[in-house]
Amino acid sequence: MKITDLKCAIIGGSPIVRITTDEGIDGLGQAEWAKPHLKPHVLYYRDFILGQDPTDVERVVSRIRRLGSFKPWGAAVSAIEVALWDIAGKAAGLPVYKLLGGKVRDKVRVYNGAVRFPLEGHSPGHYAENMARMKESREGFSIIKQGIAFHGEMADAVPDFYYGQPQPGVRFMQGGLLTERGLKHIVACTEAMKDVLGEEVGLALDCGPGFTVPDAIRLARALEPLNIMWLEDMLTGDYTPYVQPDLYREVTSSTSTPIHTGEQIYLRQNFQDLFEKKAVNIVGPDPLDVGGIAETKWIAEYADLHGVLIAPHGTADGLIGLAAHVHLAATLPRNYIAFEYPTGTPAWWYDIIEGLPDPIVVDSFIEVWDRPGLGVGFNVQAARQYLSGGDEDFFD
Ligand SMILES: [Mg+2]
Repeated sequence: MKITDLKCAIIGGSPIVRITTDEGIDGLGQAEWAKPHLKPHVLYYRDFILGQDPTDVERVVSRIRRLGSFKPWGAAVSAIEVALWDIAGKAAGLPVYKLLGGKVRDKVRVYNGAVRFPLEGHSPGHYAENMARMKESREGFSIIKQGIAFHGEMADAVPDFYYGQPQPGVRFMQGGLLTERGLKHIVACTEAMKDVLGEEVGLALDCGPGFTVPDAIRLARALEPLNIMWLEDMLTGDYTPYVQPDLYREVTSSTSTPIHTGEQIYLRQNFQDLFEKKAVNIVGPDPLDVGGIAETKWIAEYADLHGVLIAPHGTADGLIGLAAHVHLAATLPRNYIAFEYPTGTPAWWYDIIEGLPDPIVVDSFIEVWDRPGLGVGFNVQAARQYLSGGDEDFFD
């Protein structure tokens, strides 16, 4: 089998990859809906993979892997990798999870990082009210993540929260030493959210990036009595193009609250120090940023050898991304916690993708399906209307 074309269309903001072959089998991949700028980057790889056998996934990906980088630039390679697995599965008549070694679980746990309701304000009461709505959502999530401090608007919305310089309009650029008021505000909001969730639902907090090491330690220690699931990306994370494992190690070794990072990291080599130096308790690589499905599995296995847990990031990965997550999560070792459930954004995505269960999530779990490849595909007739100018031949 040979690759005959690599196409990319921006559908509802998401770069969608479609690889075609000389045997009529095609494969799909998707990058985050926040990355419509990636189309030329995806197409840059076209000449590197044309004529290759897509079922030799690793050989094809090894031709382009070195030409990617940390978020957002690893997404193009990652989406192509997913599309190759889709083809390899269809060609073999097997679901992707079988090609990864087979499943170790029949249903996979997901956590909530994407089913959101607008925050009406930034007081503890507002956070409690918002958490109550998420707790009631029909997916019955057993873990809910909320943004606090520098992740979201809290740092700039609460007066005298920190000593740093606000960066209005630019996400993930805030940071600096917290005021005592700021630190106490985070703790008060977290207590309010825990009061709502009780012991039934775990609370994870996406925190930064932007914390200083002393504040990270102070916050992690202050929250110890609350049994938080994890504190995510306090120091580096999101679009930070580096890791700083030694700083994370200082925080992690100072507290019993689990410390988490990794959603922006590209490739297994950049996780090595986090594991070998025992720098964090949990990693959250995004298969659609880190280099793909197999890359994430290798990271999970190496993490497991070092007692590190994994909760893959995925909030904006869309419905094809969701399928990739399900196959991957089915195969991960027992250090797997849950992946971050991506929603269809905009909501019309649910009308143009076929193959997902309905409802998708039941009591915080998704049943793993058995159809070949990723097991999802476009309803082409319904999807065509969402193709933008220049992408009209995407499905041809
Ligand atoms: Mg995050």
